[in-house]
Amino acid sequence: MGLLGAIEAGGTKFVLAVANQQFDILDRQVIATADGETTLNQVIAYFDQFQNIDAIGIAAFGPIDLKPMSPTYGRVLDTPKRGWSGYDFLGRLKAWRNIPYYWTTDVNGAAWAEYQTGAGAHCQQLAYLTVGTGIGAGLITDGRLLTGYGHPEVGHMVVQKHPQDQYQGHCPFHGDQCLEGLAAGPAIEARFGQSAKDLPADHLAWVLEADYLAQAAVNLTMMLRPEVIVFGGGVAHQPQLLAMIRTAFATRFADYLATPPLDQYLVAVKNGDNAGILGCFYLAQEALK
Ligand code: ADP
Ligand code: ZN
Repeated sequence: MGLLGAIEAGGTKFVLAVANQQFDILDRQVIATADGETTLNQVIAYFDQFQNIDAIGIAAFGPIDLKPMSPTYGRVLDTPKRGWSGYDFLGRLKAWRNIPYYWTTDVNGAAWAEYQTGAGAHCQQLAYLTVGTGIGAGLITDGRLLTGYGHPEVGHMVVQKHPQDQYQGHCPFHGDQCLEGLAAGPAIEARFGQSAKDLPADHLAWVLEADYLAQAAVNLTMMLRPEVIVFGGGVAHQPQLLAMIRTAFATRFADYLATPPLDQYLVAVKNGDNAGILGCFYLAQEALK
């Protein structure tokens, strides 16, 4: 048995790692994200050090094409990130070594880790929501990552504006009409003119944030009836937020349907900031099946 590889491809940094088949991490390296070709050359130089890699799991920032029948499958789609639009990420790797790859979004990688060993280990239906620079979700139904015409874009779901919120929103497409425009880290910071980390726990910011994330949880509940909704990402590090989301959820949901008890239903990520890389290893093993 050879090794498993992991590529957690973020907009700021790439985390590269190798593990054995028991998921013990043997080596790890972080590189800064440059343009597509420069970055992939560094990725390949890293994995060139290991001769016996059986498969690699890739969890990449989006938007990416993950429709197997698409002529642009494996590429990065239109993005403002310089040197990435249309870049053939997966093709470059396949040209290097023709081994199995699992190609998916960054948030799907983290969702898969939570499903395997984290907050959703007992579940077949899970939603993992990350709230950081952007908002995204990985959705698992019947033990499979949900994809349709493309990957879901949960961050851009429409939400109702909170009556105490004057902010014009920061989504370049939807302004203050979508979740990400109102509730991602940069929206919190632009609304109040300071770093989200520095806002006190009783600040209005968290009342608004809890309401928006509760609306997302209500919508996910109505559409997917997951067994658990897991919250991760930088903003979810606020310790008071989860209890506030549960309270806002109860108000918005109005007991319409049965859910698990809210302290078991709306929960924090268990694999923490390791979820992404761990998910890549699990997906690499999936690619071998
Ligand atoms: P990224 O989404 O870029 O991968 P993160 O998930 O860390 O990275 O998200 C970064 C965003 O999360 C920033 O807007 C930052 O202000 C916010 N953030 C990070 N840590 C905290 C914290 N402890 N409390 C509130 N917001 C935070
Ligand atoms: Zn939007």
